[in-house]
Amino acid sequence: MSERRLVMVPGPINFEPSVLREMAVEGLDHTSSEFVDAFAESLAMLRKVVNATDGYQPIVIAGSGTLAMEASVTNFLKKDSKVLIVSNGYFGDRFAELLSRYPVHVDMIKPEVLGDAVSPEKIIAAVEKESYDLVTLTHVDTSTAVLQPVREVGKALRNKDTLLVVDGVCSVGGEEIHIVEDGIDVLFTGSQKALGVPPGLAILWLSPKALEKLKNVSNNLSPYYTDLRKWVDVMRSYESRKPSYFGTPAVNLIVALKKSLELILKEGLDRRFTRHKQISEAFREGVKALGLQLLPKEENVAHTVTAVKLPPNVDLTSFVSSVRGMGVLIARGLLKEVNYFRVGHMGSVNANDIIATVAAIERALYKHGYNFKFGDGLAKTQEVLFKYGF
Ligand SMILES: *Cc1c(COP(=O)(O)O)cnc(C)c1O
Repeated sequence: MSERRLVMVPGPINFEPSVLREMAVEGLDHTSSEFVDAFAESLAMLRKVVNATDGYQPIVIAGSGTLAMEASVTNFLKKDSKVLIVSNGYFGDRFAELLSRYPVHVDMIKPEVLGDAVSPEKIIAAVEKESYDLVTLTHVDTSTAVLQPVREVGKALRNKDTLLVVDGVCSVGGEEIHIVEDGIDVLFTGSQKALGVPPGLAILWLSPKALEKLKNVSNNLSPYYTDLRKWVDVMRSYESRKPSYFGTPAVNLIVALKKSLELILKEGLDRRFTRHKQISEAFREGVKALGLQLLPKEENVAHTVTAVKLPPNVDLTSFVSSVRGMGVLIARGLLKEVNYFRVGHMGSVNANDIIATVAAIERALYKHGYNFKFGDGLAKTQEVLFKYGF
């Protein structure tokens, strides 16, 4: 039997063969004109992916999304700074865990019910009451598959000193982001999710307001490696086609990033986001037709990942390993209090992938004694896909 597997976890995703092939380049040094050009072009394309203008600075550092997360806050904080964390799950909570290592004050807002987003009104009321240095939002919390609205909060913070930090690790490249209109000051992601590049790149975007603040916060709390002032200089140098050095860039990953960004922009951002919406709808409707419930509320479902509750009598570990045994890699839920699994559908995900996934879920449910008719989920998935012209 073939060893081919379909990766449907929320990152690392299935990578395009042409992106992977780029990584096999040899003899590429970070000062060569070949690399300088590739890096400069990647930075220019990174602006486009989030609809940024020239005043916004993208930064690429070797590391995972968590490194970008730490850099996104520590560079703008000093002792006794105040941070408001909006958390819809595990990754929102991670901001609090991270910041507990630093001498800052943290307030946290969570939705009343797991699977809801926090209403912008509630966040705005909190920032009117207290002056925060930073507000953090998780655009898509990968643990609950909840999409958090951003723009209203961005608008409310525009004329304040507060910076809006957005964790876009599970959204950049898969969910619509207009960094300027959304009022985002610090956005970050990791390469292995919707941007479709193997793990290892931490990517950030800073707004003009964030760049100004970066200059002005002396004694900020950043560790040496994530000092964004150093990295901004390096990025600007590469963009003016001059190599520069602070830490060795992940050259092979950056040429892969360039290829992936070319594919993304060739597809077109609107078409890409629409595809994510349609494919995710086909998946959600399929599992709902099997009588399963989603963890997030219908109004705030993400389009890059879906969280599905399992019936209480179906054991999570053995269900997930059954589906995996069928060659479709899905993920367990991240939160202990709910019996649920997660499916990532981002990057180059297509109709065939989603059909194979729903089919494997049906067979695994059948194996676990769940009562339904074979094909009920698939029929609905097919219907939605057909409706959208797949
Ligand atoms: C995956 C993820 C992270 C962490 O990224 P790593 O690359 O695993 O360090 C942070 N936030 C969100 C929303 C994520 O999905």
